[in-house]
Amino acid sequence: MITAERKPMEEIVECARNFSRVLLVGCNECVTVCAAGGRKEVGLLASALRMHFMKEGKNLEIIETTLERQCDPEYIDELADSVGQVDAVLSMACGCGVQEIARRYKDKHVFPMVNTKFMGASERQGVWAERCQGCGDCVLGITGGICPIARCSKRILNGPCGGSTGGKCEISPDVDCAWQLIWDRMKSLGQEDRYEEVMGARDWRTSRDGGPRRIIREDMAL
Ligand code: SF4
Ligand code: SF4
Repeated sequence: MITAERKPMEEIVECARNFSRVLLVGCNECVTVCAAGGRKEVGLLASALRMHFMKEGKNLEIIETTLERQCDPEYIDELADSVGQVDAVLSMACGCGVQEIARRYKDKHVFPMVNTKFMGASERQGVWAERCQGCGDCVLGITGGICPIARCSKRILNGPCGGSTGGKCEISPDVDCAWQLIWDRMKSLGQEDRYEEVMGARDWRTSRDGGPRRIIREDMAL
C-alpha cells in the first residue's frame, strides 16, 4: 500500500487560514489502512481545525466526506456538489488523490493534508516499512522475494556491500541488511548456489529515471 503521515497541525492550519468554507476529503484505501487519512482521521482533523479557529475567534465551516478511492475519476465526480459549496479542498489522500482532485476541479484550491511516504507493508501494529520503489522491472523472483532496490540503503543489485555487520546495514543497527535477508532466504530455499549469479546492468528507464510513467492497456482503453 501507499503509506502516508498527517502533516504537522501548524502547516494544516496555514492551508485553511484564508478560507471560510472548506471540504475535508479522506480516502477509504491505503491512507485508511495506515491510519493517516481515512474516515476516522477526517473526523479528528475536522474537530481539531474547528477548535483551533474557534480559539482564534474565526468560524471555519468544514464539510467532511470520505471517498472510496480518491485516485479514481468515478469517485471524484461524487464530490461535485460539495466542491461547489466551498472555497478550497483539503485532501487527506496520498499525492495521487490530491492531484486527481486538482485535475477534475480546475478552479478550486486543493491542499494536501498528509505527507505521502512510500510503498510499504505493516511490520507490526503501528509500524510500516518500505518494501517497493516501483522500479518497473521486478527482480523479486531472483532475490528470494526481498527487494534490494527498496530495502538496501545503496540499492545495490549484487550485495552485500561490505558494510554489513551482524546482519545489520552500516547506516544503522536498526536497519536490516537487505542482502543478508536475501542470503538467509536463499539458504532456507536451498538456493545458495544462485546467490552468486551476477545481476547484470539494468535499464533504469523502467524506473522513474525514464521520466513520468504510464501503463497503457490497449485491451481496456476506450
Ligand atoms: S524489484 Fe522493483 S518492482 Fe520489485 S519490489 Fe523491488 S522496487 Fe518493487
Ligand atoms: S549493508 Fe547491506 S543493506 Fe546496507 S548498504 Fe550494504 S548491502 Fe545494502
